Formats: sequence, C-alpha cells, structure tokens
Amino acid sequence: MTTETQTKQSGNAGGKVKDQVAIITGSGRGIGRAIAEVLLREGARVVISDINAEVTKQTADELNKDGAQVIGVPCNVTDSESVEKMVTEVVAQWGRVDILVNNAGITRDNLFMRMSEEEWQAVIDTNLTSAFKVTKPVLKVMSKQRFGRIINIASTTGVHGNAGQVNYAAAKAGLIGFTKTLALEYASRGITSNAVAPGFIDTAMTQKLSEENINKILDKVPLGRMGSPDDIAQAVLYLAGPGSYVTGHVLEVNGGLYT
Ligand code: NDP
Repeated sequence: MTTETQTKQSGNAGGKVKDQVAIITGSGRGIGRAIAEVLLREGARVVISDINAEVTKQTADELNKDGAQVIGVPCNVTDSESVEKMVTEVVAQWGRVDILVNNAGITRDNLFMRMSEEEWQAVIDTNLTSAFKVTKPVLKVMSKQRFGRIINIASTTGVHGNAGQVNYAAAKAGLIGFTKTLALEYASRGITSNAVAPGFIDTAMTQKLSEENINKILDKVPLGRMGSPDDIAQAVLYLAGPGSYVTGHVLEVNGGLYT
C-alpha cells in the first residue's frame, strides 16, 4: 500500500494531551475523525490512518491547520504487514506512541441463521483481530516508554447484545475482554487499557438504517437523540488524559440506552 505523509509542525496550543502522539485507526471519517479533532485541539500530535489512502490524505490535509501536528498514514488493520509499516512510520516520524485508539470497524448485519461465514469472519477480523494486530507493535513502544493509553472503541452491542448483529456483538464483547486483560498485564508499566462503548451514533455506519428502524431505536434512548461523534471523542479524551487512574473500564456513552 502506498504511504502518504503530510506533516506540519509549529507551535501547539496547550491541552490535556499536549504533544502526546496518538494513532487513531479508521480515522478518515466518522467517530475516528472526531476523536482526531478533539485530541488535536488538546495539543496532541495525531496520526490519521484509514484503509483508503486518498481518504487518509484528505482528512489529514483538512485537519492540518492552526499549528496542528498531523500525519496521514494509511493502514488496513486486518493486514499485519500494513500495520507494522504504519507503526514503523509513526515511530520514525515522532519517536513514540502515547495513545492508541483502536477505532476501525465494520458491520455486516444479518439474523444468525442467515449469516454467512464471510459476514461472520469479516466482522471478527476488522473489529477484533485487528486490535491484536495493531496493539502488539504499539505496546512494544509503550512498554519501553513505560507510558501508554490504549482505548478500544467497542459498542453497547458488545455489552448487551443486539438482534441481527451476532458477529458484531461477539467481536465487540471479545474486544472488551481484550481490553480488561491488557489492563491487568500492563498496569505495572504505566499503560492503561480501557474501552468506550458507544450507543447509537450519527455516522455513515448508522445512516444506512431505515427511518423506521432509527425511530424504533430512538424510542429506547432516554436522552431522545442519537449521539454525535464528538460525544464519543470527549469520552476518549477523558481516558487519554485526565482519567489516568481508570483502567480495565468500559465507558458506555449511549444516552441512557439499556438503563
Ligand atoms: P464509519 O463507517 O463511519 O467509519 C469507520 C472507518 O473505518 C471508515 O473510514 C472505514 O473505511 C474504516 N475502516 C473500515 N475497515 C477498515 C480497515 N480494515 N482498516 C482501516 N480502516 C478501516 O464508522 P463509525 O465512525 O460509526 O464507527 C467507528 C467505530 O465505532 C467502529 O469500531 C464502530 O464499530 C464503533 N461504533 C459505532 C457506532 C455507531 O452508532 N456509529 C455504535 C457503536 C460502536 P471504509 O469506509 O473505506 O471502509
């Protein structure tokens, strides 16, 4: 895969994650992009990384303003070689990785009996095995630094289940187990591991649902609205910055759904 890099370094505003290097997978759009924007506003150096090289470059270019420090490095999180290349490039550029947000994800919804093995496997590969592939090389860097923040974007579906999403629920529940176990294994090295479990968030992923289905879900959300990508980004910022005594936690950000 070709690698596009855009860099601009200049004075950075102070903030909750000042000068920390953050990799966000699947950050070309949606929740990942909103996380990038919030971390940039709080002074981080941000790696935009998406499967699509053009989208990666375009998003990095758009965010590269007002003294922001952004590079765009495309990466397919299901491909170990692509992941190694991305992490190597980030370390060559900035020498460290402080924050990893495993955000890239897909859905392939179907009722269990109709679900194909391909639909099952694609969702497990992109939402769960990807975290294994990306976190491994990053944890090597964080372990040497004796500092790191791993934040995995799970889902309320992984906590509570959801009809028609058995593959996605299994992947996100697996990601929660992954998160809690890394918290135990890496606490002694100053590395925290947490998950954010979004509810129903307004992105391309949910825009493909019918109006009828959207209204049915909204009926169950006490706050009465879909969440915004920024609602999730604020939770990630907390776990990346101020929430330094929080590890092994799953922070549900869902407007009260399932309460
Ligand atoms: P989007 O589909 O809007 O964005 C996901 C991004 O990830 C896309 O740019 C997509 O690229 C990219 N991507 C897909 N596959 C890969 C891959 N193999 N390697 C790298 N990048 C990839 O989704 P959201 O922003 O809504 O979702 C972000 C995360 O939040 C996901 O993990 C999702 O499961 C989770 N989430 C979302 C909820 C919601 O309501 N929106 C609710 C709960 C959890 P492309 O489009 O080219 O495939």
